[in-house]
This record gives sequence, structure tokens and C-alpha cells, in this order.
Amino acid sequence: MASEKDVYTITRKIQLLVDGNKEEINRVYKYIRDGMYSQNRAYNYLISAIYSAKVSGKTNEEINDIKKRGKRDFKKDNPKWSLYNEDFNFQTGLRTPSSIGQKVCQDLDKSQADGLYKGKVSLPNRKLDAPLIIQGQTFSFYHGYATDEELFDNIYTVADLNIYMKFANGIHFKLVFGNPHRSHELRSVFYNIFKGIYKPCGSSIQFKGKKIILNLTLQMPVIKKELDENIVVGVDLGAAIPAMCSLNTNNYVRLSIGDRDTFIGQRTKIQAQRKRLAKGLKNTRGGHGRKKKLKPLDRYTGYEKHWVESANHSFSKQIVDFALKHNAKYINIEDLTGVTTDNKFLHRNWSYFQLQQYITYKAKKYGIIVRKVKAAYTSQTCSCCGYCDSGNRPKDERGQAYFKCLKCGVELNADFNGSQNIARSTEFVDDKPKRIDINKRKAS
Ligand SMILES: [Zn+2]
Repeated sequence: MASEKDVYTITRKIQLLVDGNKEEINRVYKYIRDGMYSQNRAYNYLISAIYSAKVSGKTNEEINDIKKRGKRDFKKDNPKWSLYNEDFNFQTGLRTPSSIGQKVCQDLDKSQADGLYKGKVSLPNRKLDAPLIIQGQTFSFYHGYATDEELFDNIYTVADLNIYMKFANGIHFKLVFGNPHRSHELRSVFYNIFKGIYKPCGSSIQFKGKKIILNLTLQMPVIKKELDENIVVGVDLGAAIPAMCSLNTNNYVRLSIGDRDTFIGQRTKIQAQRKRLAKGLKNTRGGHGRKKKLKPLDRYTGYEKHWVESANHSFSKQIVDFALKHNAKYINIEDLTGVTTDNKFLHRNWSYFQLQQYITYKAKKYGIIVRKVKAAYTSQTCSCCGYCDSGNRPKDERGQAYFKCLKCGVELNADFNGSQNIARSTEFVDDKPKRIDINKRKAS
């Protein structure tokens, strides 16, 4: 199996039709619905059990025991070993305890990095009809053609393809591709699956109205490109612009990403609008139509989230493209975990974790490695002579901080200076979120 470094993942949606009569269709719908219900209940149960154990100061050993018992398949083991009881009613063949155990641990790590134990985000929780998580081992694809060659002859041209999915508990689905012109990309994905190039892995199933939709996650090999081990891109989350990139090997090349005024203007506009809506709804009590009245507010929250997401997509793409253009093998970004400064506007009110994730994910596709470096002093250190002093950051007449070295006298764009220091930094931070030792914190 390829190591994690050599692959990256994509997700594609495709509609599934139950392969069978009316009775079979009913059986499958019930299986999925019940599966979602029991999985999501188990998720909420396990995640709060671990969370309460942590905040009430249980030892790591005790917490690991809860995790272990949450992952155990109680049907195969002594029920006393499981955190769940019979009432959870897990569906046959879904391996629910292990899927949920993995998902809970992943989500807790992510929330911890986002500041869960500092009250910055709330404990994740799943709606009882949230998508059904399916492990890679529980499904596979097959086709109804005599040979693979015959499948490949038809795959881009025939509307109704005979491609099927075998799923847990004896369930078979037929895949719906539709119009060949409009589904060309999806068809090429399946071409690559049957060629053995893309590998299906842990995915999910959801309902969209009455339709069953597969959110298929695939691992694919990285695109090999000659990258230079000695070239590093430094990314500074700027004070004057959202992000600045430069190279460790070059004092001139730079890329400034995003425009301060557009950025702040857009965000202020969305937030002001949301505030206005929230204010208008303050006196709305429960009962008739409260849900309906709150709808525009939800829509605005969704709109803001979407805007942040698409900005993060665009920023991360530009950063990775910059690295590719200069053949850089590494991208260094600041580790802002625990940094309270809010003068970096990508940090304040902004999903910085998401930006890091997007950069890492996009970089992986080309074999570029993303490293986190210590954020301390990157803005106060002179990238020319190495002199570090908080006095290196005077303010100009507009109150905007810039960089002027007290020792060698060089004047630089502050964000560019920061990105240079980050590109050259070797103070790497372990990517895994730090475990908070609650007992230790209490003692101090
Ligand atoms: Zn200097």
C-alpha cells in the first residue's frame, strides 16, 4: 500500500438505485435510515463521553479506555467491554463502532486545534439523519460487461452504464451516470477506478429527497513533479494583506495574496447584515413561525461560511501555485495555535485551521510538504541581519506598522520580512494537536 505521502483524496457524488424489487427497495431504505440513526446516536454518545472525561480531569489512561470501548464491536466481544448497549441497534455489516470511533477521534483532534477546551468552538455533534459513514472494506464496484475493454468502449458514450456497487448486508446498487456529456468527469473517475488507478476508501451515503447519494472518497496518486529540496516558500498571514509568500533562496520574488480593503469591506458587510437580522429577531419568542423567522439569519451564517470557504480555496490555490512555479519542495506556514494576537486578520474571526488544511491538501497532490513553524518573533526579526527587537516595528503616519531594523537600518515591507523569516525557519512544530494535560494545568 502506498504511504500517505504518495496519495491524496477527492470526493465525488453519484446517485445510487437499489438493484431489486419493491420489497428490496424498502429493506434497503430502512437499513440506511436505521443505520444513520444508530451511527449518529453512537457518535454523539461517544464524543460527549470522551469530552466529559477530559474536562473532569480523568487520566489519559482512563480516556483511552473509553476510546477503546467506543471502537469495539460489542457483538463480537463481551458486551461489558463495549461502551454501547443493545439499545443502539447497530446495523449488520456496517462496522459502526469502528467507523464512529475513528470519526470521533478525528473530529476531537480538529476541534481541539480550533480551541475546543478554551471555549472557542463547541463540541461537535451529529444530527440523527446525518450521512451514513461507510468504511472502504464494506463496498466495491463491479460491472456487467464481458470484459473491462468492453466497459471502457462504452464508458464515455452510453447513458445507462451497467456499473454496480456491492454493499454490506447483501445490498446491490446500480450507479446513475445520466447524460454522457454532462457526466464526463464522473465517468473518467470510474474509468480510473476500474483501471486500478483510483482507490475507493471510507465514504458516506445520504438521502437527497428520495434519492440515495453516494459521497465517494477516492485516493489517487500524487502528480510527480521535479521539486527542489532546497527551495522553501514562507507564508506570512499578513497584518496589511491576508497573506504574503516569498522564497528562502531569493530576496526579491514575492506574492501578495488578497487585497486588504476588499477583504475587510466584504467581511464587515456580511457581518453587519447578519447583526441587523439578529437584532430584528431578538424579541422573537418560541412558537408560531420562529423557525421560519430565523431562516434568513441561518442563510446569512451559511453565506458567511461559504464566503470564508471560497476565499480559503482561492488563497490556498495561489500559495500552492506559487510553490509549483518556483519548484519549492516545502511550504512553511506559521503555527498560530495558542497565539492570541488579533492583528493578523486571517486569524481573527477566520478559520485559519481550514486554510492550513486546504494548503496541505492541495500541496499533497504535487508532493509538496507543508510544515508548521513557530510564529514567535517572525515579525520582529530582521530577515537581512537576523537582529530581533520589538522596536523593529515602528508605525508610519497612518498608524500602520512597517519593518525597520534598528541594527542594520534596512526598511522592508513588514509582511515580506515576516514571510522571509518563516521561509528560513527551522523551528518546526509537530502537526498533531497538543494534548492538554488537565491535571498539570490545575496544579500550576
Ligand atoms: Zn537588520
